[in-house]
Amino acid sequence: MLIDKMYKMMETLALINSTLDEGKLLHLIMKAIKEVMEAEASSLMLLDPNTNELYFSTVEGGSEQVKEIRIRADQGIAGHVMQTGKPLIVNDVSKSEFFLKTVDQKTSFQTRSILCVPLLSRNKTVGILEALNKKGGKDFNEEDLKLFTAFSNQVSVAIDNARLYDMAFYDGLTKIFVRRYVEAWLETEYARVKRYNTDLSLVFFDIDHFKKINDTYGHQAGDFVLKELAATVKDMIRQADIFGRYGGEEFLVCLPETKVEKALYSAERLRKAVEEKEFIYDGKRILVTISLGVASFRQMPEDKVSRFIKDADDALYFSKEHGRNRVTLHGQEKKLKKAA
Ligand code: GH3
Ligand code: MG
Ligand code: MG
Repeated sequence: MLIDKMYKMMETLALINSTLDEGKLLHLIMKAIKEVMEAEASSLMLLDPNTNELYFSTVEGGSEQVKEIRIRADQGIAGHVMQTGKPLIVNDVSKSEFFLKTVDQKTSFQTRSILCVPLLSRNKTVGILEALNKKGGKDFNEEDLKLFTAFSNQVSVAIDNARLYDMAFYDGLTKIFVRRYVEAWLETEYARVKRYNTDLSLVFFDIDHFKKINDTYGHQAGDFVLKELAATVKDMIRQADIFGRYGGEEFLVCLPETKVEKALYSAERLRKAVEEKEFIYDGKRILVTISLGVASFRQMPEDKVSRFIKDADDALYFSKEHGRNRVTLHGQEKKLKKAA
């Protein structure tokens, strides 16, 4: 029944609009297409503008092997739809002059029929959505095509939104949160911590002599170090921790529900892991160390997030001034100075 299908589609669209993770989003979409179109499989092909090729970005029901395949943007049924910008139904691919056998040959999938619509973004065709083999040996019809086209229009808006969201929240190079997000998150968390008197700690760190790394090995090697370092730290922290790039080579880890002793321990673990990690770029090992500052929330009603971050930054500065590759706890600087 058309009404059932439309209902299912609207349900999916509501879900799509509340999902901003692009990977998850695409899977939801492909699953919905498969279901609503009563197809054996569905796939999303995206255009790689650099090579003018189509590649399989997400598949549902078909073989994951297709992900290794790329076709020219004017090849096959998908390529034809790409060129004309018009949707197409082919109910017997063996009779189509456009059908490309190579995809089936490289996978275990056997295509019988295809419903193919262009995916538009700002009036440009950026990819192709396909439903493959209508179940029960049935043919795809005009009604399917209309429904699929309407769906595809909504999908492109959702994908655009997910991309914008990604850009606003994640740093392009390291894929961790941007400073703005971390600060906004901290504001909310800080209010909660003050109100309920729970724990919150910060670990602020900065790469030692990073300028020298850039000067010695080149800016690209520097970028590589930033990426690898971020990935290493991300692997080591808890899922609830908020990790962001605060500046060029400065990073901030926010540890909710974490007392000072645990935060210090985590900071030391990170310091050691970075010192021991082998950063190999272009066959050369780059030695990387970081200096860290730790601050833990203390109940002071007049305090502000900016003050809290500054505490961690001051402790970091102390680490820099006292040999680098070390951890300093805010509030301990004076005592440490006396002891020295
Ligand atoms: P210190 O031990 O005192 O922290 O010394 P440093 O050299 O690390 O500090 P400084 O602030 O003098 O230099 C930071 C350098 O980081 C300068 C800047 O060019 C580089 N940098 C900032 N962002 C990026 C980036 O995205 N990629 C690369 N490759 N370098 C960056
Ligand atoms: Mg530095
Ligand atoms: Mg710095």
